[in-house]
Amino acid sequence: MSLPTLAVRRECRKAQRCVDAVAANLEIIQARVVAAVEKAGRSADDVRLIAVSKKQEAEKVRAAFDAGQPIFGESKVQEARAKIPLLPAAVRWHFIGHLQKNKIRHALPLFEMFHSVDSLALAQDIQRIADEEGVRPRVLLEVNVAGEGSKFGFAPEKLKEEMEALLQLGRLEIEGVMTIPPFAPEAEDSRPYFVQLRELRDDLEQQFAMRLPQLSMGMSNDFEVAIEEGATYVRVGTAIFGER
Ligand SMILES: *Cc1c(COP(=O)(O)O)cnc(C)c1O
Repeated sequence: MSLPTLAVRRECRKAQRCVDAVAANLEIIQARVVAAVEKAGRSADDVRLIAVSKKQEAEKVRAAFDAGQPIFGESKVQEARAKIPLLPAAVRWHFIGHLQKNKIRHALPLFEMFHSVDSLALAQDIQRIADEEGVRPRVLLEVNVAGEGSKFGFAPEKLKEEMEALLQLGRLEIEGVMTIPPFAPEAEDSRPYFVQLRELRDDLEQQFAMRLPQLSMGMSNDFEVAIEEGATYVRVGTAIFGER
């Protein structure tokens, strides 16, 4: 059997446009996702790849979409508002950045899922605006598992305290949790944080007698480890599109 992890990604420098490399890189990442899913004994349907296209030009998104990638991740509403109209309507968009209150109304119709609801206050603002707009956004709760001061997200204990209040927000379809572990050069370094997120999810499901099926975790440098630990969404940017 050929090992997709040994395939060499098409490198291209930031100054180049690199559109040609996207389809080749995507194929390699897809193969690595499949290999990780198999290694973990999971079903391929349980793991979806989000191609993180923030700070990448629309032409690269189109190249990936044409090569069969359906879902893209953006982290800034303003950038997404400029990019989305340039692309086919069939492209599906997930929001993965910190959502500012004054951008919620613009963001709601653009994204099929919000991975990064990072505070009760933001969730309440989304609730209010979703109510006015008559929509039911699908959301994940972002957890700052490592307790990094520089990161957005619920502290794990705080999320347990605030879950009751979050569940009162009837417009929000809360489907799971998301995390961004501390940057680490070694993928294995992320594993404890992925385990922590999964265990927190399991605790919440127990404590609140509910299902939280989605685990959004894993990026270019550690998505295979995330898949081994139960990720249902992996968010991969650089390994597909090149440096930003
Ligand atoms: C930028 C970003 C990614 C993608 O990171 P890469 O290292 O480029 O794969 C994933 N998730 C979030 C939340 C991001 O902001």
